[in-house]
Amino acid sequence: SDIVARIGGDEFVVALTGIQEEADAARVALQLVEGLSQPFAVPGRQGEAAPVYLTPSIGIALFPRDAHQPTELLRLADIAMYHAKGEGGAGWRFYTPAMNERVLRRIELEARLRDAIAQDRLVLYYQPIHALTEGLPLLGFEALLRWPQADGDILPPAAFMPVAEQSAELIEALGRWVCGAVVHQRRRWQAQHPDWPPLTVSIDLSARQFDREGLAERVRDAFATAADGDTPATLPLLGIEFEITESVMVRDPLRAEAELSRLRELGAHIAIDDFGTGYSSLAYLKHLPIDRLKIDRAFVHDLARDADDAAIVSAAVELAHRLGRSVVAEGVEDAQQLAALHTIGCDAVQGFGLARPMPAHQVGAYVQRVARGEHLSLWHAARQAAGAIAVT
Ligand code: C2E
Ligand code: CA
Repeated sequence: SDIVARIGGDEFVVALTGIQEEADAARVALQLVEGLSQPFAVPGRQGEAAPVYLTPSIGIALFPRDAHQPTELLRLADIAMYHAKGEGGAGWRFYTPAMNERVLRRIELEARLRDAIAQDRLVLYYQPIHALTEGLPLLGFEALLRWPQADGDILPPAAFMPVAEQSAELIEALGRWVCGAVVHQRRRWQAQHPDWPPLTVSIDLSARQFDREGLAERVRDAFATAADGDTPATLPLLGIEFEITESVMVRDPLRAEAELSRLRELGAHIAIDDFGTGYSSLAYLKHLPIDRLKIDRAFVHDLARDADDAAIVSAAVELAHRLGRSVVAEGVEDAQQLAALHTIGCDAVQGFGLARPMPAHQVGAYVQRVARGEHLSLWHAARQAAGAIAVT
């Protein structure tokens, strides 16, 4: 599908017309280097095969970024190629040093993430979600990805999700890993705490996971594989809620509807994540099989001070209720926000004010604290604050 031309001696030009981003060119270069670096047998004078090794050096120039004219592009690629050669050959280089750096870092991160998934070195943190009624009962947890590093750092999703989302295969592997990890974790909790009430676990799905058809089947398969056959294949999906962003609906509403319906048939619930930040076409709320809305923390942040935000949240809650959906407010940090949300009639809350996301081994202690009512300081503070807040 691409053009390969020999332009003289041992020099070839490859023209890639379908690349979406810088790293695509690097990936092709990497494949070329790998392919050409395999020894191949050339019959020698005595008839025996002697291995021959090639060390290709590749220079990359990008249109329109580096140059607009074909001759200029070739000249820059040639310069980059000599740099690659200067570094010992069997490698590739971009014309621009900054781009080189960036792409190298990206490709390295991708490879490390792939390893981390394969070697089970990612972890899930769990952030509690509480019902906004007397006593703030615990409803469940949202599972949030973390990537512990060798130096003790723990990378948040923002540091690696954008890279994962560039690769269909990587985002798929990541999604599959999360489903498996949740199944294993719930099993452990069930074994250790048979007395716990049923708690939901929410799992974020990336919009990219909807790009390929059959998401529901892939999810079911990931759950069934992790559950290892000793429960009916669909059972582990009970008590699971999938969170999806509005962009999924906008891209391909019919497909989204079909996939979400399938997920629901498997026993899962569906929530719209970061509600209000995307396209917020209210029409899809009516048609799509959705159980909950999660109001984005951008609206919660100034709720007690900003009348516009209060109006938006209150309208969203009202609308959701009329359509038979419930509402969770994200990013609840203080008593004023909690009081305002209670006045508005929001159903559930999640946020640092109640608890930060915590590693799985702290969840047991948290559930005990809740049972003793030790999570209620924010609720009591909200009660006191409530008198001081007027929400329209
Ligand atoms: P999100 O789905 O909106 O998740 C909530 C984020 O808000 C989490 O960030 C959480 O730590 C943070 N948060 C919760 N309460 C508060 C609060 O009171 N104040 C503030 N300032 N922040 C709060 P985190 O864990 O860094 O996750 C960021 C995003 O990464 C998530 O946003 C989600 O879109 C994505 N993500 C996380 N885990 C997964 C996963 O397993 N799969 C996929 N596809 N995406 C994930
Ligand atoms: Ca979420």
